[in-house]
Amino acid sequence: MSEDPGPNPFVKHNHRQCRTSGLREAQDFCTIRGLRLTPVRARVLEILLESHSALGAYDILDRLKADGLGGQPPVVYRALDFLVEHGFVHRLERLNAFAACAHPATEHEAMFLICSDCNQVAETSLAPIAADIDRAALALGFGVESRVVEVVGRCPACQVAA
Ligand SMILES: [Zn+2]
Ligand SMILES: [Zn+2]
Ligand SMILES: [Zn+2]
Repeated sequence: MSEDPGPNPFVKHNHRQCRTSGLREAQDFCTIRGLRLTPVRARVLEILLESHSALGAYDILDRLKADGLGGQPPVVYRALDFLVEHGFVHRLERLNAFAACAHPATEHEAMFLICSDCNQVAETSLAPIAADIDRAALALGFGVESRVVEVVGRCPACQVAA
């Protein structure tokens, strides 16, 4: 299975394409699996697809309120639960925030590169290091259930600005 890594979100790219393909992949996936991408779910995904920045639930809530689409936290949390469960959105524990997935239609484990200055997030495949993680865990007798790697640093633009 070849995995298109997509454009580098840290450099200027045709982001319109990220947005449209992210939404289209989610719509196709839902159609095939008989899942309901309700207007609120679709809008939350769209908000996250607008940039490669991680957003907190309350940032998303503010945007939904501005759209006139439900103003209660449970509405956002339920939509996020759905989007995370089906792999359209990733939850970033470190930031307690959410980022749209770069390639939602494929089963994958991700490594996230998080800019500590601007909260931009890039997603890259964990596949090359998954075996190393398992080996290190196994050495301690630990049974791995899920692997999420969050790497913190500075994106190219913030390195220049610093
Ligand atoms: Zn983009
Ligand atoms: Zn992903
Ligand atoms: Zn940055």
